[in-house]
Amino acid sequence: MERLIIVLALVLTVYLTSCTGNKKKDKSQSDTATTSTQAESPVPSTDNAVVSNTIEMTGDDQMKFNINVIKVKAGDKVTLTLKNIGAMPKEAMGHNFVLLKPGTDIEKFALQAMVSKETDYIPAALKSDILTHTKLTGPGESDTIEFTVPKGEYDYICTFPGHYATMKGKLIAG
Ligand code: ZN
Repeated sequence: MERLIIVLALVLTVYLTSCTGNKKKDKSQSDTATTSTQAESPVPSTDNAVVSNTIEMTGDDQMKFNINVIKVKAGDKVTLTLKNIGAMPKEAMGHNFVLLKPGTDIEKFALQAMVSKETDYIPAALKSDILTHTKLTGPGESDTIEFTVPKGEYDYICTFPGHYATMKGKLIAG
């Protein structure tokens, strides 16, 4: 009795129709929107003088320059304009910009300049102390000069009598 139990191996080819439907789940990544950290790192202001080879300087009736520290790039041409923004007559309140060589005795130079009215307070005897200078300006007048300086620190003053005490500053070339 061969009960051929034909085991019908039901090969169930299960077609796993895996629903691989591309469920485009629009995962809006807005929820993970990382706030763009625009780090506004404040620049430490060690010195408010900005390096620039173009300088707009003024002199006024209060015997003041508007800039007391000039920073320039050494070796590059510097263009400096001095404008007299005062109203007093030139004979009473003239201004110039005189850049001195390092090591110049400012007081001695200024005293000599004071008695050099005929040359607009540029002392002829001490011209070797001068790197460059503008003309003497009256109210509303301006003068522009160009020069180049090597790396270093230089003093500048207005040589009109009595002005150098307040009209002075440093030009730093780096
Ligand atoms: Zn002056």
